[in-house]
Amino acid sequence: MLMKVMSRILILAALVPLILSLFFLMIIFGGSFEVKNDMIDQPAALSPLVESYRIKVQEIAEKHEMEEYVDLILSVMQVESGGAGNDPMQSSECQFNTKYPRNPNAIMDPIYSIEVGIMNLKDCLNQANVKSFDDIEHIKVALSGYNFGNGFIEWLKQNHEGKWSLEATTAFSSMMAEKMGWAAYGDPPYANKVMNYYSQYTFIVGDGEFIMPLKDYIVTSAFGPRSLDGFHYGLDLSGGYGALIYAPNDAKVYRISKHCAPNGGFLGNYCPLYNFASGAGNYVQLEVKFKDKLLYMIFMHMSDVFVEEGQLIKKGQVIGAQGHSGNSTGSHLHIEVHENCDQCISTENGLIDPSKLLQEKEQPK
Ligand SMILES: [Zn+2]
Repeated sequence: MLMKVMSRILILAALVPLILSLFFLMIIFGGSFEVKNDMIDQPAALSPLVESYRIKVQEIAEKHEMEEYVDLILSVMQVESGGAGNDPMQSSECQFNTKYPRNPNAIMDPIYSIEVGIMNLKDCLNQANVKSFDDIEHIKVALSGYNFGNGFIEWLKQNHEGKWSLEATTAFSSMMAEKMGWAAYGDPPYANKVMNYYSQYTFIVGDGEFIMPLKDYIVTSAFGPRSLDGFHYGLDLSGGYGALIYAPNDAKVYRISKHCAPNGGFLGNYCPLYNFASGAGNYVQLEVKFKDKLLYMIFMHMSDVFVEEGQLIKKGQVIGAQGHSGNSTGSHLHIEVHENCDQCISTENGLIDPSKLLQEKEQPK
């Protein structure tokens, strides 16, 4: 028995130099191991401090059925505090704060501040009849409601047919300042300030024949040149963590990987380490025959993979769920397409802009 243990220790000891040398090899050839195309998928304008709250915001947003507004919540936080302090959503004075005095900065717990802020924002979105994350006109009404207090939304309905304008918010601000005897009340351009961060997202892609792989989504990073890392080889969409991903066309499941931590992404997480797609996290690579072409489409950073290699699948079939695995800064779906090359990730070989294939309309039901 002891001998067995000893021999195991010896084997382990012999393995140590091997593991170490592999490690150095990875450092030396680090560039070829990593998927470089996916470094930052959120707007650059959000501060790192705000980004650091993304996962927590997502969790709390899901609890309050606000998951489609995660990016809006983060944009509000950016304008309110830049993510600093114990009350990053500046929600102390709001009616949903029941734990701390309702004075500015009275909240001493950032997580509580986020929860109260989300409840307040949800209430404002409801009052402003916001239909979805891209209902910008109503979202602006809700945002000014968040800034001024909810009396604003009713007032706007009665005085300006519920339509947001700088003229209207300035009028409300002056009226309230006079009423309260203050020098100033609220911030009339507040909604525009938040939209500066939020509307960095473009809302549409596609005029092609493939269906979109997500039902409701925003584009978090377009294909093509970008300032951050020179060039983005794919298209990033987000429909929220766990959103189902649909096959854009009939296809064969060419490769999958599904052993990375579903929500454990970070820059420098090269899972799965072993192949051409290191850093892709849990992924599905589809082989699609299209107009005499053979396309390889890869869907990265998933939380779950629901198909097996070799499986033939139909357009609209669920292949996985959006996640935050591998070399990723936040939950999103990276789609990358190469013609006639299944191992050309992060290169220009046969590279195709996914938005040329995908269509916005006729999303899966
Ligand atoms: Zn990407």
